[in-house]
Parts: sequence; C-alpha cells; structure tokens
Amino acid sequence: MEYADAVAVYRELEETDADLEKVEILAEALAAADPDELGPLVGTVRGKVFEPWVDADLGVSSSLTAEAIETATGVSGEEIESVWRESGDLGDAAAWAVDNAAQQSLFSEPLTLRRVHDSLRELADYEGAGSQDRRVDEVAGLLSDADPEEARYLVRTALGHMRLGVGDGTTREAVAAAFLDGGDGAAAAVERAHQLTNDLRLVARTARDEGREGLDDLGVELFRPVQVMLAKKAEGLEDGVESVADDPESVRAEYKYDGARVQVHVDGDRVEVYTRRLETVTEQFPDVVAAVREHVTAERCLLDGELVGYDDDGEPVPFQEFSRRIRRKYDVAELAEEIPVTLHLFDVLSHGGESLFDRPLSTRLSHLEAAVAPADGAVELVAGRRADDLAATRSFYQSALAAGHEGVMLKNLEASYQPGNRVGYMMKAKPVMEPLDLVVTRAQWSEGRRSDYLGRLFLGCRDPDGGFAEIGRLSTGYTDEELAALTDRLTDHVVAEDGRMVDLEPAVVLEVEYEEIQASPEYGSGYALRFPRFLDVREDFAPADADGLERVERLYDEQ
Ligand code: AMP
Repeated sequence: MEYADAVAVYRELEETDADLEKVEILAEALAAADPDELGPLVGTVRGKVFEPWVDADLGVSSSLTAEAIETATGVSGEEIESVWRESGDLGDAAAWAVDNAAQQSLFSEPLTLRRVHDSLRELADYEGAGSQDRRVDEVAGLLSDADPEEARYLVRTALGHMRLGVGDGTTREAVAAAFLDGGDGAAAAVERAHQLTNDLRLVARTARDEGREGLDDLGVELFRPVQVMLAKKAEGLEDGVESVADDPESVRAEYKYDGARVQVHVDGDRVEVYTRRLETVTEQFPDVVAAVREHVTAERCLLDGELVGYDDDGEPVPFQEFSRRIRRKYDVAELAEEIPVTLHLFDVLSHGGESLFDRPLSTRLSHLEAAVAPADGAVELVAGRRADDLAATRSFYQSALAAGHEGVMLKNLEASYQPGNRVGYMMKAKPVMEPLDLVVTRAQWSEGRRSDYLGRLFLGCRDPDGGFAEIGRLSTGYTDEELAALTDRLTDHVVAEDGRMVDLEPAVVLEVEYEEIQASPEYGSGYALRFPRFLDVREDFAPADADGLERVERLYDEQ
C-alpha cells in the first residue's frame, strides 16, 4: 500500500465526526489492504505502531522531530518552531516545511505504509551513544521522501498524536463490517476476541482469514495480556451492595487496595507482570517474580491483583511514592528494598490451561485458593467476606480504612469476568473528598485538537505568606465550551509567556474535585491532588476566598 493511499484514508477519517462514516471508511480500507499491511493499517489509524503490551518507546520527542524536519527540508528551526507554535501541531509544521523545502531529496524512494510503519518500529531498538542522532536521521530520511500530506501524518504517527477519532470500538465495527457478514453477532464476536487477546491486528487478520469460527477459537493466551474488569462507583456502601446483585447473599466485599493493578502470567518458571494499561513491568519487579515463583503453586495460570508498596510500619505507601517502582528502570533492586511490595491477588482468569472467564466469581475464587500458597507480605489473597449483613460489612469497610486502604470493592459472586468492562458486577465504595476552591496560577497551551485553549491549569491554594502555593495540575472535567470560556478569561491575566507556558496573576478561582491529597515534593505546597477534575468556576470568589494551605493539610490528615 502506497503511503499516500494510507494518508488518504487518514484524512477521510479525520474529516468526519460521524462514527458510522468512520466505520464505513475504515471497513473499505481494511478490505482493500494488502495481506501484510492489514496490521500496520489497524495500528496506525489508532495512532499506534506497537501492540499495547509491547514495552517499547520510539524515543521520538517534539524537539527531535523538529530537528529531523530541519534536516530533511533545510527550513530553519526558527521557522519550523513558529509554524508549530501557531498551529499547535508539529505535523502541520512538517507539512509546511516540506512544501517550502529549501532542498530536494536526490534519491527519492516512494513511501509505503509498510516502510513507514517498520522504520518507526525500528526506532525503539536504537540504544546507546548516538542513538538520538540515528533517530533524527531515520525520521529525516522518511520525511525527505514524503510529500506535505505524508509528512503531516508521518510526524503525527511518530509522536503518537494521530488523533483521527478512531478508537478500538470503531476499529472493531470496521473489522466486523469488512470481513464478517455484519449484524450484532459479528460485532460481539469481534469484541469478545479483542477483549481476550487485546490484539486488534490479530483479530482483524483472523476475521479476514478464518471468519467467525476463527474468532470464536481465539482465547486467552499466556503472555498476551487481557483487558481487566473495571469497577463502577457506588454512592456509598449500601448503594454498592444493592447495585451489585439483587440478593445480598451473592455479594462479596473485599478490601480495595490503592496500588497498581497487575495481571501476572505464569508458565512454570516464566513469569510476566503487566499493568492495567497492558504494559510489561516484569523487569521493575524482580521481587514479585521471585515471590510468584515461590508461592504460586499452579504450573500455569493468569492472576489478577493489586501491587501495593508498604513502609516500615506496615502502612501502605501513597500511590505517588509507590509509582516510582513502576517507572524505575535502573537500580531496581535498591528501590525494591526501599519500597517492598505485596501482591494482593483477587482473581484468576485461567488455571492449568482452562479459561475461567465464563465461570462465576465464586468458582474462580476456589481456583485462586488452589493455585496459590499465600505468604504474608509477599503474595496474599485479598481480604474479603460475604456482604449479606450490612452492619458487619460496615465494620469490614472501617477496618479497610483503618488499615490504610482506600475502601472496599463489592462484587457479584455469580458473575462471570467481563474483560475491559464496567458492567456493575464490581462496585467500589470509598469516602468522597470535599472539593477545594483553588486559584489558577499558571497555564499551558494544549497541543492537537485543543491547541487554541489553555488546557492545562496549575492550581494554587493560599499560603500563609499571602501568596499562592501550587498543589496540582488540572486537565480534565471541562467541556470544550467551558474551556474556551476559561481560556478567554485567563488570557486577560497573563503576566509572562514562555513557549507554551503562561504565568498568570491570581484572579480566577475554580472548584475542583479529586480523589486524594498526596504529600509531594513536585509542588510548592508540598502536596499534590490525585486525579483533579474541574467542577465549576467560582464566579463569586476573589483569590483571597480560595482555600488555604491549612485546609489542605487538615484534609490530608483526615483522609
Ligand atoms: P478505580 O481505579 O478507583 O476505578 O478502582 C478500580 C481499581 O481498584 C482496580 O482497577 C484495581 O486496580 C483496584 N483494586 C484494589 N483492590 C481491588 C479488589 N479487591 N478487587 C478489584 N480491584 C481492586
């Protein structure tokens, strides 16, 4: 497939907002793709060149890309930067630079989708001294063979900013329309195959080559992570128990741990650990691998659980602290000693080669007990109990909070495992934090679709010296209209601008909700809000009415 043809498909997809049209466009393109380019097409329309669980980073930053554009076109860095700043999209700047190139490539080789896709994948393998220069050369090499439109999408793909509005759902529908005879059954078969394999390329290929039957035969396979089942939020403990099943006898309450969701795949000595986002983190957790080898007795199984870091007093460490272990790629053993973790297991999705997705939770829990020989502080089975007695469940909830955990999960014991879904078989109940009123201190222009907006807002609380101490960064919770209105208002208060960052005089107060307050050196206040969300503008508030550091400290202590 010529890259120009793929680009024509990207453009068509980008130009329509209508989902049905996107499905039609993509279905037609998938049906027409060359056999070995189906995978790259399925990947790139969603902005991806790797399967979700592959632990690879292209290592392509905005500045590296700008340098590659300069190398390929001879257009000066300042000019590229200025177009980039104006449009907010380096892809647009690349298209402009190719159109205005000061130099022509001598040996132009036509671009194919395969070439672009494979070359980008190779970037992830570059290591060591000179690897950044090689990346610049490789991207520049592709760009010098590209026309302006090709350059635009090539850069967006390399940066992971494709944003065609094609998600997994659209792709699944397109696969069903392209290769199966349509209908609800077809869409459901594709969806199920995707949830179990997590590999839309494989799903598309199987649908094309083997049809429905082939899809139905696809199942969970060890070392190919599955999408985990997600929870819905309960309005409180009672609401949670009532919503999860009609009969409280069928409800189980478990501690809700605040760490990282992991699935652990085991086959003999081979153990791999994946995150909820399906990334491989095995290397970061050699202690967990060793503990699993020792305490998981099943020869082959796929386990679902939460990794939690603990301090010397046996208290769970805040997520922010624990997350250092997820990110750390060097001196891993040292950090493992500093922040030891416990693997709390709460589900098993395959055991001894048998898939357990369709079995009720009660059966899966029996399998879990059979698969693991728990050991305190290393591999533990989740603390849980039947939730048929509300008073007892309430004291169980209190004991979870007293032990430093987040709250409880309520689960339907009769329900099957629904990968990737929030179907209401699993509800979380935890205390709600009171919203804070905070001042916007700085802001950053967004990139991509929202580049006309100040989409990232730094928030401050009043500090005892009469100034404002930052406590977090807000980027969700507002609609485009709300963000446009906020941007208008904030731009009246700009005091300094540096690249995409703007400093603001304290003027606008926002009401913000969040999940938790954490101690953090990242912000001047010494605290950070976890998952802050915009609720409202406090029209009637002056900055002096915003919440002060003392309230943040009190809420932190109380949570
Ligand atoms: P939330 O991230 O607030 O939507 O809550 C769902 C997350 O809670 C899951 O993805 C798990 O990472 C975590 N979790 C903690 N304890 C449990 C448990 N006992 N059962 C299921 N998930 C749990």
